[in-house]
Amino acid sequence: MTVLVQKFGGTSLADPACIMNCAGRVAAAQRQGASVVAVVSAMGHTTDNLIALARAITQEPRQREMDMLLATGEQMSTALMTMSLHTLGVDAISFAGMHLGIVTDPVHTKAKIQSIDVGRLQRELQSGRVVVAAGFQGVTVDGQITTLGRGGSDTTAVALAAAIGQARGEKVICEIFTDVDGVYTADPRRVPTARKLDRISYEEMLELASLGAGVMHNRAVMCGSNYGVPIHVRHSSRPDPGTLIVEESPDMERISVVGCALTPDLGRISLRRIPNRAGIQAEIFHYISAANVLVDDIMQTEHGEFVDISFTVEMNDLADIKIAVQRFLDALGQGDMSVEVGLAKVSAVGVGMRTHTGVATTMFNALGEAGISIANITTSEIKISCLVTKEHGERALKVVHDRFELHRAPEERSLPGVSDPDLSAGVR
Ligand code: ADP
Ligand code: ASP
Ligand code: MG
Repeated sequence: MTVLVQKFGGTSLADPACIMNCAGRVAAAQRQGASVVAVVSAMGHTTDNLIALARAITQEPRQREMDMLLATGEQMSTALMTMSLHTLGVDAISFAGMHLGIVTDPVHTKAKIQSIDVGRLQRELQSGRVVVAAGFQGVTVDGQITTLGRGGSDTTAVALAAAIGQARGEKVICEIFTDVDGVYTADPRRVPTARKLDRISYEEMLELASLGAGVMHNRAVMCGSNYGVPIHVRHSSRPDPGTLIVEESPDMERISVVGCALTPDLGRISLRRIPNRAGIQAEIFHYISAANVLVDDIMQTEHGEFVDISFTVEMNDLADIKIAVQRFLDALGQGDMSVEVGLAKVSAVGVGMRTHTGVATTMFNALGEAGISIANITTSEIKISCLVTKEHGERALKVVHDRFELHRAPEERSLPGVSDPDLSAGVR
């Protein structure tokens, strides 16, 4: 018996006909001999609508109550998907986070999975049933309902595939069904010339997902990489082969840039006249991590006895970070804070950057020639990111995508300025 985890995103479950279509895919996989766990997100814009409902009542709902509310979206889908399977003659049962044995930490609305007990789920599979699992939710050790952060159903699916795989001592494939037929060189909604990739490494997908490629939740990719779960991103209503997210292989390094992404809405917090002493950064970040918010890139400049520190943050987290930083300044009794909004970040990603030169120059030239100023640059071994104004974000993404000729098949690219150091050294 092969176990297969199939995850259906909200865009693929928008109405009863869509749900029936997804149920059809589950039924087909079962007919082909798989034991299926179908992980479902909330229908269409349900989660957004639930958030709007809460905001119509209060701007500061308690996070525990938000989780009570948000978890209902996925619960609704599990029941409807299970009913759809029943109409197709498939024996199926719906499971919420608590039935799935998904235990999380107690950080409401941003919980992380700590453990999964797949015993009950495996028993259902063994009895020949499809298990329809609620994505995005779990429970704490003391039974409180939690959610995993926006887009978190991908993480539920990959984590379930990892846990079942571990319990059975074999690899369990996780199929992510969505409204696009795979992972593209950039978001095809923003860059119509983007090209679908047949495969991509976990590391590249993790960078792209963290930098704005919303097709996969970054923690899902991280989990897949940690546990070696093969992830297959596919279109929910087309039979196309999709994109495989796999371990890196040596041939992947031949391509310098595999894709681009845009983080469209960032703010920047700058702290000035902070005493330049050992441990000051730890003090600031103690307040920030206590607020459970993530900062993006951190920049620091020293001026003798003072230091200026600034960092970019997702706009959704800006209000919480401002409060945390103000607490730090109040405790310190000196320094000041300023806040900028209206920023965006364009990034190019590829494991080939480790061995190719000229990638940064190509990207800076592309932005410079398009008249787009760069407010900050950050790099890692496999990515280059440039901070630009939000107003220029979409265009920056397109010009970078164009300059790296990502619309062409890799063998048809000329990539001016990008060379392979092994070859440029000449053959002796
Ligand atoms: P789901 O509801 O299935 O979880 P999402 O909206 O979360 O769907 O993700 C699918 C969307 O991700 C696509 O419609 C597409 O616009 C967007 N996207 C962003 N970056 C990429 C990319 N590099 N490749 C493919 N899709 C992307
Ligand atoms: N329903 C949740 C959201 O909209 C989780 C998910 O779709 O993955 O963010
Ligand atoms: Mg999603």
